[in-house]
Amino acid sequence: MVKIAWHHLFAHPLPEGHRFPMIKYELIPEQLLYEGVISASHLFAPERVSEAVILLSHEQGYWEQLRDLTLPAREQRRIGFPLTAQLLEREMRIAQGTIDGALYAKANGIAFNVAGGTHHAGSNWGEGFCLLNDQAIAANYLLNAGLASRILIIDLDVHQGNGTAEIFYNEARLFTFSMHGDKNFPFRKERSDLDIPLDDGITDEAFLAKLEETLPLLLAHQPDFVFYLSGVDVLESDKLGKLALSKEGCKERDRKVLQFCKDHNLPVQVSMGGGYSPNIKDIVDAHCNTFKIGLDIFE
Ligand SMILES: [Zn+2]
Repeated sequence: MVKIAWHHLFAHPLPEGHRFPMIKYELIPEQLLYEGVISASHLFAPERVSEAVILLSHEQGYWEQLRDLTLPAREQRRIGFPLTAQLLEREMRIAQGTIDGALYAKANGIAFNVAGGTHHAGSNWGEGFCLLNDQAIAANYLLNAGLASRILIIDLDVHQGNGTAEIFYNEARLFTFSMHGDKNFPFRKERSDLDIPLDDGITDEAFLAKLEETLPLLLAHQPDFVFYLSGVDVLESDKLGKLALSKEGCKERDRKVLQFCKDHNLPVQVSMGGGYSPNIKDIVDAHCNTFKIGLDIFE
């Protein structure tokens, strides 16, 4: 059965006045359950990732500042969340959820994390709501354990996967592909193995055409595992992203990626990434579509 990582801490409330939409992490599983798309048995609550596994992807000094809650105020501002023990625990459970998901995906074809996609966290920094890079951590876990030998990360969040690119800059076994808004955060981009920067306002047709022509090229890496970051901040309604995809276009994007994985027998772990449309329903609908498409194709 397809497994989905979820823990109540994923929707951990932020301090008063914080506008990051944590509520989506509560609403996504609620809606999927309500619509009968999933049952409670699809959900699993991950433990915390271990320090040893974190250190495969993040530098010790940075990790200790997180662990001891001594990250300098300037660095916390870069993250956008005040660092607390609960937020760190949340992030550690998300990372373990992505590792467990990767293992489930190897058995079942696909697995999801209701949260994750924390691709701005680099080896020694956090930023843009990301402390620990869940898919990087899970990818290094698989490589280190000999459970995958060549991994592909498909990052279609509107923001470049700069942390992921940096962590794997010198890792030939891992191919990072990021298609993102050129004019969007982060303003200083890192170099992925393949970056496709997009102009502001790109709509469904052009976006999907670019994706369609790119996916087959990624097979040249000869991956045996895929991580997909399915951020829905590509929607026209998104207040941070500058692209202009419709909800249908976003759903078609997911279909193309997940069908590509299925067609080539590539197990895939999916993390949700960003989504900042002013109407929470748009965010939740678009994320739920990713689950529906994935279940459709793989179950
Ligand atoms: Zn994003």
